[in-house]
Amino acid sequence: MWLDLLFQGCMDAVQSEQVSRTIRILCTALISFVFLIAISSLFLLVFVIEGQGLFRRGIFLNCACRLLAVFEGYREEKEKEAVMKPDIEKTRNYYRNLGPENICDCAYCQNYCARVKTAYPEVARYLDSLGVDIEKPFETSPLEPDENGYLEYCVCQYIVFGSCPKDFTHRIGDVTFGRSDCHPNTGIDEEHFVLDFYPIRLPFEEPESEDIDL
Ligand SMILES: [Zn+2]
Repeated sequence: MWLDLLFQGCMDAVQSEQVSRTIRILCTALISFVFLIAISSLFLLVFVIEGQGLFRRGIFLNCACRLLAVFEGYREEKEKEAVMKPDIEKTRNYYRNLGPENICDCAYCQNYCARVKTAYPEVARYLDSLGVDIEKPFETSPLEPDENGYLEYCVCQYIVFGSCPKDFTHRIGDVTFGRSDCHPNTGIDEEHFVLDFYPIRLPFEEPESEDIDL
């Protein structure tokens, strides 16, 4: 019983985001270690120790197998957490059907859509490998244009179908990718996540028109 509680505590710690990476890795290793010790001692009890009745051996064997199954489940869960698993076909399909009416028409976003692909070809290629169209952002967060006529977008967000671990990170040049946990409601029920990256810097020209719609 207390073992159960200990496992639960460790697993919660492993999954919580506040705990540092090192501690999480240590906890994962500790859990695996305890599992392996428990499983091998149970098997030892079954096969090695003399003087056990058949019934007892059966119980130990049963326990060992169950624990093994739990451990396998736990390991699969961990592996699932470790890598991004985009549903590329579904994502590509989503962007194909995403019309211009779904993209924000403010001057900053329009500037972004018009220029980002040429300015960041490698980022565009990476997004394309996930099925994402760089010219159809879910959300961008532009700052104010600076005195050199450049506009920095501090976060650019895209919808991707599939799953992604909380601590996913990827870098292309000075652009850092991650999984966003702070974004507007996507209104999508199927399994998906919001990929974000920063910073993006693009030239920006003030539009001529008087009423700039931001
Ligand atoms: Zn906008």
